Amino acid sequence: MSAPKPVPADAEAAAAIAVAAREPARPQLSPRHSAMLAEMGVRPWWLFGTQTEAAPAPAPQTVPARPGRRPEHAAYTARADAPPLAAVPAGHTATTAAAPSARALATATALAAAPATTLLSPAPDWDALEQQIRSCQRCPLGAQRQCAVPGMGDRRPDWLLVGEAPGEEEDRQGLPFVGRAGQLLDRMLAALQLQRTQRVHITNVIKCRPPQNRNPAADEIAHCAPYLRRQIELLQPKIVLVLGRFAAQTLLAEGGCLSPDELHTLPLGKLRGRIYQARIGAQTLPLVVTYHPAYLLRSPADKARAWADLCLAADALEAAASS
Ligand code: URA
Repeated sequence: MSAPKPVPADAEAAAAIAVAAREPARPQLSPRHSAMLAEMGVRPWWLFGTQTEAAPAPAPQTVPARPGRRPEHAAYTARADAPPLAAVPAGHTATTAAAPSARALATATALAAAPATTLLSPAPDWDALEQQIRSCQRCPLGAQRQCAVPGMGDRRPDWLLVGEAPGEEEDRQGLPFVGRAGQLLDRMLAALQLQRTQRVHITNVIKCRPPQNRNPAADEIAHCAPYLRRQIELLQPKIVLVLGRFAAQTLLAEGGCLSPDELHTLPLGKLRGRIYQARIGAQTLPLVVTYHPAYLLRSPADKARAWADLCLAADALEAAASS
C-alpha cells in the first residue's frame, strides 16, 4: 500500500506550496512535504522575514530500528532538545537540553513495580473495556473526574496515537484531544489524509484528568496501564505514534525498548526520530515518538521535526504493510 498523498486543507497551505514551487533557488520540497508543513502550520523558512521560526524539515531519514532493546497542559514539562533529523539552517533556533522530569522517574518506577495482573483484569472485549474505564474507581482520579476518556476512533486502526492524559475539555466531553492541542493533532492527521475516526484510534496513557492537569501520581499511572495494554491488544494497530515524553516513557518502558537508565535520562528530543519495536502483550509493534501537540503550540519551531516523525511513522507503516 502506498502512502497517501497529503493535500493542502486551505488557501494558506496552497499559497505556501505555490510560493515554494516558484522559488527555484530555495530548497526543493516535494508536494507531500510542502503540503504537510503547510497543514501543520509550518511555513517554509524563506517565507519568514525573521529567523526565529521553524526550518523546513528535509526529507525524513529512516533511522534504523533498535530491536530488543500541556500551556493547555500547564503541567506539561517535556522539552525537546535533540538535534533535528537533519541540520537546521544556520541562524535558525535549536532548542536546548532539559533535565528529565520527576514524572518520568515515577512512570517507569510505577510500571516496573506494578504488574498489570496484580492490579486489574481488563475486560475481554471492547465495549466491556470502555465501560470498565468509564466507571473505574481504582485510583483517586475516579472520584474527581467528570468523564473518563477511554479513547476514540477506528477499532481496527492502522494508527494508534497515544497522548498523556485528558485535560479540562476532554474531561468535560469524555473524548481525547478536543482542545487546542487536539485541533493541531487533527491538522497533523489531515496532512496524512487521515482523520480521527478512520484508520486512526486516539487514546491516552491516563484515562481520567489529573486535577489542575497536575502530574499523574505513580499509583494512578500503574492503575491505568493495564487499560492501555488491553486496548493495544484489542486494536492491533500497525503503528503506534506516541505523543510527548510522558507517554513515550510509559510505552517505551512497557515495550522493553530502552533501559530504565535511558528512559530516566534521555529527553524527548533524543527519544524521537527512530522506529522502535515495542513488545506489548503478544504483539511486537513499530512505535515512533514525537512531540506532544500542546508542546508544539508553544514551540512551533519544532513542528518541522514532528513532521519528520510523522513521515518516519508513515514509512514504517508502509514497510509493515508490504512485508
Ligand atoms: N493532551 C493529552 O495528552 N491528551 C488529551 O486527550 C488532551 C490533551
